[in-house]
Amino acid sequence: MDLQDKYGRDFKTLRVSLLSTCNLGCVYCTMGTEEEITTDRKPQTPAAVFLRHIRKLHEQLDLKTIRFTGGEPLLYRELPEVIAGVRAMGIEDIKMTSNAFLLDRLAPALKDAGLQYINVSLDAMDSDSFFAMTRRKQLQRTLKGIETALACGLDIKLNAVMMKGKNDDQVLPLLEYAFKHNIRIRFLEVMAMGHLFGHANDYKLSQDEILDIIATRYSFNRLERKTSSTANYWQTDEGHVFGIIANDTEPFCMDCNRLRLDAEGNIYGCLSTNKAIALSGDETDAQLQQKLQMAMAQKQDMQFTGSEMSMLHIGG
Ligand code: SAM
Repeated sequence: MDLQDKYGRDFKTLRVSLLSTCNLGCVYCTMGTEEEITTDRKPQTPAAVFLRHIRKLHEQLDLKTIRFTGGEPLLYRELPEVIAGVRAMGIEDIKMTSNAFLLDRLAPALKDAGLQYINVSLDAMDSDSFFAMTRRKQLQRTLKGIETALACGLDIKLNAVMMKGKNDDQVLPLLEYAFKHNIRIRFLEVMAMGHLFGHANDYKLSQDEILDIIATRYSFNRLERKTSSTANYWQTDEGHVFGIIANDTEPFCMDCNRLRLDAEGNIYGCLSTNKAIALSGDETDAQLQQKLQMAMAQKQDMQFTGSEMSMLHIGG
C-alpha cells in the first residue's frame, strides 16, 4: 500500500505499547496512583495477538522499525517471544524504550531474541532527584541494568525528560555519565500530555535553556538533522555527541513516520489527535487500508498540540 499524506509522510516506524502499567511513577507520565504504578500481574495481551496485528500492518506498510514500549515493556511476560516473532518477519530494526529497572536480569534473553537497541529513560544521577522524578528509590538498579545491557552488546541511548524545579540541576551529571560510558544521551522538553495537559509550560526547560546549562562546561557545534529524527544533535569539542528532543521549540512533525499500536489493539497516527482506531485483526486488506488512511489523517500539520492521554497508555 502506498500511503502518503500531502507532506509526503508515510508510516515506517511502529511503536507498540505492550501494556499500560509501569513499575516507576514518573511525574511527567503518571499521577502516581496504584492503578498506574503496579507490578501486579494483570491480564496481558498475548504475544500472538500483537504479532498478528504487526504482521498485517507490515504487509501493508513495509515497516522498517518496531519499537516496543509501554507502560514498562520489561513487565510484559512474553517480551522475548514477541521480539523473536518480529525478527522472523524480517523487520530490520527492533528497538525498545524502557526504564531499565528489570534489565539486569532480562538483557541477555532479549539480545538473544533479536533486540538491538534500547532507549533507557534516566532522568537523574542523584538518588533524591531520581526519587523526585520516578517516585522510586532505585537509581542503582537502573544503572546496573544499563551497564549489563551494554556488556551484552545492546546499543543503548539515554532519554532524560527535563523539568524545571525538579531535575534541571541534573543536566550536567547526566551528560558526564553518558560521556563516561560512551552512551548517546538526549534531553527531552516535557510534553503537555496526560495530567500535564494545559500546564506543561510550568515545568518546561527549553532547548535553549538546556544548551545554556551545557555551555557552562562545554563548547559544541550543531550537527545536521537526519530525516525523521526526533532529536537535534550537537558535538562537543572533545567529540562527544548529545541530543535534544525539542517537542515544543522545534517540532519534528514535518517528517514524522510513526504509527502507534496500543495494548488494546488500537492504532493512532499522531500523539496530538489521538482518537483510537480499533483493529479487530480480522480486517480485509481494504478495511485495514481504510483504517490506516484514518490514522494518517490524524497527523498534525506541524506542531504537537498536547493531549489528555498519557504516554503510559499510548506508548512513549
Ligand atoms: N516505561 C518506559 C520508559 O520509562 O522508558 C517506556 C514508556 S515511557 C511512557 C517512555 C518515555 O515517554 C519516557 O521515558 C519519556 O521519555 C516519555 N514521556 C512520557 N511522558 C512524557 C511527557 N509528558 N513529556 C515528555 N516525555 C514524556
